[in-house]
Amino acid sequence: MQMISSCRVLLPSASAMAASSFPRSATAGKGSLGVWPGMAQLSIRKNLVYGLMRLFSMPFKTLRGVSSRTLGVSRFCSINNMSSTLQIELIPCLRDNYAYLIHDTDTGTVGVVDPSEAVPVIDALDRNNRNLTYILNTHHHYDHTGGNMELKERYGAKVIGSGVDQDRIPGIDIALNDGDNWKFASHEVLIMDTPGHTRGHISFYFPGSKSIFTGDTLFSLSCGKLFEGTPAEMLSSLRKIMSLPDDTTIYCGHEYTQSNSKFALSIEPGNKELQSYAAEVNHLRDKGMPTIPTTLGKEKLCNPFLRTSSMEIRRSLKIPPAANDAEALGIIRQAKDNF
Ligand SMILES: [Zn+2]
Repeated sequence: MQMISSCRVLLPSASAMAASSFPRSATAGKGSLGVWPGMAQLSIRKNLVYGLMRLFSMPFKTLRGVSSRTLGVSRFCSINNMSSTLQIELIPCLRDNYAYLIHDTDTGTVGVVDPSEAVPVIDALDRNNRNLTYILNTHHHYDHTGGNMELKERYGAKVIGSGVDQDRIPGIDIALNDGDNWKFASHEVLIMDTPGHTRGHISFYFPGSKSIFTGDTLFSLSCGKLFEGTPAEMLSSLRKIMSLPDDTTIYCGHEYTQSNSKFALSIEPGNKELQSYAAEVNHLRDKGMPTIPTTLGKEKLCNPFLRTSSMEIRRSLKIPPAANDAEALGIIRQAKDNF
């Protein structure tokens, strides 16, 4: 059973909220001591507001209260599932990437998913006085693996990635393949091959907490560009993800939702669910807050790449009624690439 625990919340001032921005300032130099404390505060503030929004707006996992304006605040806003003792913390990286810290509260095991850079991850670990046990990579692109070697060297963490792409994952120690069951502390992790964006792209599904890390396969309101795969491969990958329960929480690799929403609305303007989600997304982004995670149920209703049979989308893009879903996905992807 999921529940919302009671918690005391200290609201940031309106001016502080307005001042907060995402992602971290492009001028923030790595390792600049004068910059990072401010950045950490920004992140904390954003997480706090984000936690509040979720508290009131989502059928969401437990928010465990740690009332403090100091460093514990970011943990307050971690997204938890009490039944699985898994905490997930979003870490903005680079311009629009997300890494995620995953923490098993029983054993103290910590992993990071897709660390594009090391410093924000180190900062998050330091804030909570934690070590790093695992680095999980969804695919080989530099903006998902760029922090691997520095984090591995600093913490002795083991790097986990696709067996298909082990030659391209920096520092890989554990190569996993489709259907493998891996254990993160006591949590079962199902490895799903989800190619299309890259040949060896995998997604990490945690059935115990109904969470999946989809990297650049499934975004909110879009899918990844087809750099190394075909529309049919991407469709098959998306269908695997769509076979999970609708209340699965989706953690993807980028904050692209607002621009994705503009494309989605342009080809399916009559979709009421999409209209209302796009408005929510604009509101969140106006406040400098993340739109991630999303849920599979919401994506099925709004994401054009999961809606290849929508007549409105097909009419908008002149996709023939006889075209199959892979052909439709290819046309939608091409239209998005040129949008
Ligand atoms: Zn990528």
